[in-house]
Amino acid sequence: DREQILRRQSLRESGARTYARSLPIVPVRARGLTIEGADGRRYLDCLSGAGTLALGHNHPVVLEAIRAVLDSGAPLHVLDLATPVKDAFTTELFATLPRELAEHGKVQFCGPAGTDAVEAALTLVRTATGRDGLMAFTGAYHGMTAGALAASGGARDTSVTRLPYPYAYRCPFGTGGEGEGGGGVGQQAGSAGVHAAEHGAELAARWAENVLTDPKSGVPRPAGMILEPVQGEGGVIPAPDGWLRRMRELTAAHDVPLVVDEVQTGVGRTGAFWAIDHSGIVPDVLVLSKAIGGSLPLAVIVYREELDTWRPGAHAGTFRGNQLAMAAGAATLAYVRENDLAARAAELGARMLARLRGLAAHHDCIGDVRGRGLMLGVELVDPEGPVGPDGAPPPGSRLAAEVQQQCLDRGLIVELGGRGSAVVRLLPPLTLTDEQADAVLDRLADAIAAAVR
Ligand code: PMP
Repeated sequence: DREQILRRQSLRESGARTYARSLPIVPVRARGLTIEGADGRRYLDCLSGAGTLALGHNHPVVLEAIRAVLDSGAPLHVLDLATPVKDAFTTELFATLPRELAEHGKVQFCGPAGTDAVEAALTLVRTATGRDGLMAFTGAYHGMTAGALAASGGARDTSVTRLPYPYAYRCPFGTGGEGEGGGGVGQQAGSAGVHAAEHGAELAARWAENVLTDPKSGVPRPAGMILEPVQGEGGVIPAPDGWLRRMRELTAAHDVPLVVDEVQTGVGRTGAFWAIDHSGIVPDVLVLSKAIGGSLPLAVIVYREELDTWRPGAHAGTFRGNQLAMAAGAATLAYVRENDLAARAAELGARMLARLRGLAAHHDCIGDVRGRGLMLGVELVDPEGPVGPDGAPPPGSRLAAEVQQQCLDRGLIVELGGRGSAVVRLLPPLTLTDEQADAVLDRLADAIAAAVR
């Protein structure tokens, strides 16, 4: 039973285990938004496999697609051989891409995880340019293999030049908080907040420009720039569209391939099929995983054919051909596209964000709420703590952990992220109903009220 399983696993599992520490549940059944634990309790799952489950748990079209492969007698392990299942997945994937990539793009199937695809992207741009260094951003998360980890925010790696990400609330240029206000909740909707967000993005863009153009920066031209259109693990930080376009223009002007990591933002999550569609930028390399596998492990990169200069086997991996994942993924991509779940995510996400703003107006422990589509974040702060140079109070890390526990007590699963793990993140399935959205926010509101009491 639940207690025994938890006890045995905590004895045997590694000290590196993560989610299991803050979420001591033992899932035995799941459907849509709901997970049922071994204790018979039901939970609303707004973690969604770290943003993987675009259609929620065990969606019928996904199950049907998996069953069809199993019943067909097709081989489940095929390395990277061509198969009808792979052909159908690739066709469906290309139908969703911006025209330049759909017509002239190449796809490389990577090892099972997002980090494998990031690794492939880095190898690709290094091979194609003959250069080595990278530009990456503060707060970034790209994965746990060596290259992806080096490109992630906390890492110190001499081959990576770290540039400030336009984080309006904790603006790296000290324009956040009151007055010039980078996006304190009260101001974010108003012109001051918008102004400061643009100002911060402008300075962040100029910083990147200087590093690339000024010989005094001492930074050699890199093999690529890698960024997330919305930082997820970094605390749900949407980059302004204008800044993304600047990064696209800048990298194009300097012949630096732009790698966009849509592992978490893809497949309708942000209110567009791909987050790049909001700004209209087309990267040189698009990194995809999570939702593209319809809950099973799958990762690919799609890139401009001019970059396709690497030799056969330059990026290999035994598990590049997961037929079940491709079938589940193709079904998911088709369902999101046919039912326009991206538009649904945009509309419902905007309404949820509005309600979160209302909540923030009642709690001075909520420093900021933000998000795009159904990728939402509530940044908790310690309102009594000293205001930092960024104009914001310190992260409310303890409070966030308490909110997460209070949510769990109320049958709601949420994840934390961002600086000091002080951002409560919501990544519900795109199939969320209005009633479910209300239930999620009711429970979150209760949990916050209980945590500050
Ligand atoms: N990139 C981004 C933007 C991610 O959010 C993640 C996972 N959270 C990864 C890469 C790594 O993916 P994986 O955990 O599947 O290796």
